[in-house]
Amino acid sequence: MQPALDVQVREVGLRDGLQAVAAPLATSAKLAWIRAEAEAGVREIEVTSFVPARLLPQFADAEEVVAQALRLGGLQVVALVPNLRGAERALALGVPKLDYVVSVSRTHNLRNVRREREASLEDFRRIVQARDAAGRHHTTTLAAGLSTALGCSYEGRIAVDEVRRCAAFLAEAGAQEILVADTVGYGDPRQVREVLRGVLAEVAGIPVAAHFHDTRGLGLANVLAALDCGISRFDASLGGLGGCPFAPGASGNIVMEDLVFMLESMGLRTGVDLERLLAVRELAARHLGADQMHGALASAGLPRHYRGAGDGARPH
Ligand code: ZN
Repeated sequence: MQPALDVQVREVGLRDGLQAVAAPLATSAKLAWIRAEAEAGVREIEVTSFVPARLLPQFADAEEVVAQALRLGGLQVVALVPNLRGAERALALGVPKLDYVVSVSRTHNLRNVRREREASLEDFRRIVQARDAAGRHHTTTLAAGLSTALGCSYEGRIAVDEVRRCAAFLAEAGAQEILVADTVGYGDPRQVREVLRGVLAEVAGIPVAAHFHDTRGLGLANVLAALDCGISRFDASLGGLGGCPFAPGASGNIVMEDLVFMLESMGLRTGVDLERLLAVRELAARHLGADQMHGALASAGLPRHYRGAGDGARPH
């Protein structure tokens, strides 16, 4: 059995990160990254997106990546599904967890998936029905993400009531996890507390995860604010790779290595071996180019006397 964690970190660089990288990364390189990061202790990885390949050629190998990733033991494989068609492709492969995303910002939703927000919300019901009709009620977890929940590059500030309303709809429709996403990195810690408390009040009993971008340097401060609200699931990407092609100016996710360093230094167990994680970053950088990677820990190195939160219990 795997040891208990205080905080679960989830790698999203292979989806959120790579969707901002035009040149397709070789399938073998994606799989080497997934395997190495799982071995470093990251237990959940969003490995691809089931968008049409004509829109994002980066994910033309979605089926192959999923099929190979599913062979790795101990890894929760997640795939993003932008619509019912994508969900059907993922369900056919037996992906154990799907992430469906709606933008709280109506304009962002229109530009991102060319649909009205309400139509996208309704689509989640159809995905739940498709999952249940496929007999996967007990084997496929459906997570629902609220993107632009902390601001939108088209609409600016997003009303907390709008975020709450979308969260309540998705929870009622059957979401088993709600992901609150700061897609363009507009959020600040006070706003994070307000939005997350609002969402938690709407979706009692359903786990809530947070997805921050470090566009303006507030990513880890926002994680701290979310921890204060009781959130214990966070998305991040190795080397901060990432962005959103439909959100002008957005840069990468929070940096996985820096996130793990902060959490472990605070005594919160993530299950991740930081030295191995830094080696995975080098592996990814070899394929993607070092200029794509960000982060403080990789530049500065681990402090000489660093001990992770779980190190006391680990046999040497
Ligand atoms: Zn994102």
